[in-house]
Amino acid sequence: MSNTSPHQSPIETLKMTTPLISALAIEKSYAKGQHKVPVLHGAGLTAQRGEFIAVVGQSGSGKSTLLHVMGLLDSPDVGEVLLEGKRIDNLSESARDQLRNHVFGFIFQFYHLLPELTLLENVMMPLMIRHSFFSYWGQRKEIRRQAMDILQQVGLEHRIKHLPSELSGGEMQRGAIARALIARPEILLADEPTGNLDSSTGGELMDTLIRLNEDNQLTIVMVTHDEAVAQKAHRIVRLAEGRIANVAHEEAA
Ligand code: ADP
Ligand code: MG
Repeated sequence: MSNTSPHQSPIETLKMTTPLISALAIEKSYAKGQHKVPVLHGAGLTAQRGEFIAVVGQSGSGKSTLLHVMGLLDSPDVGEVLLEGKRIDNLSESARDQLRNHVFGFIFQFYHLLPELTLLENVMMPLMIRHSFFSYWGQRKEIRRQAMDILQQVGLEHRIKHLPSELSGGEMQRGAIARALIARPEILLADEPTGNLDSSTGGELMDTLIRLNEDNQLTIVMVTHDEAVAQKAHRIVRLAEGRIANVAHEEAA
């Protein structure tokens, strides 16, 4: 963070220091038959606007659960999720839906592109379903233009007519990024985005994420179990047995 100058008003200082998104003291258990399996024990994670954070930890340590709680895909048993200092995890279902669709973008290990649609149609889909049939036809050109623009940003403008089955793993994941970005989210939540890619393709995918972070000030929280991938983020947060183990501040390479 840059230095706060003595000439700054308290509100300006507060604005600079209020994190964009925080998950605070999160506790979460899942029911397994009769048993309650605790997953998160007071884990917390805070991201400033424009940060690129990697969350690492062994399989089963609760990384995905923490990411889902942060993105309102799951709710905490105890603890709070704050967006710019305002609590959001306890809002109504429809308000949380709105936030999920407008504030957060998600990408997952296995892309989840719709197999029967072309890449361009997959990327247009989130905006198409927002419109009724008639308003969609009115907006179609503009939605298509936005999708083309984002596909160009992720280097896929030459693949727009292809079905997912005709794309490589790296291309499918970049397509999934484009689909996540068309709604112009403020925060991209990525769960093992390189988990199904070989290391060189994974490296290229990381370069795409780094470029989006730097060029668009996109805040990224990425879960990974791959230490080399994590090293490319601004900051690494380690999760062990549902708690934050330590926080290492590292400069991006
Ligand atoms: P990680 O992403 O670090 O591998 P997860 O957050 O996926 O860890 O899972 C942590 C633990 O919680 C695991 O033991 C997993 O089996 C359990 N778990 C996660 N999601 C659910 C769920 N929806 N129902 C039951 N158990 C779950
Ligand atoms: Mg996981």
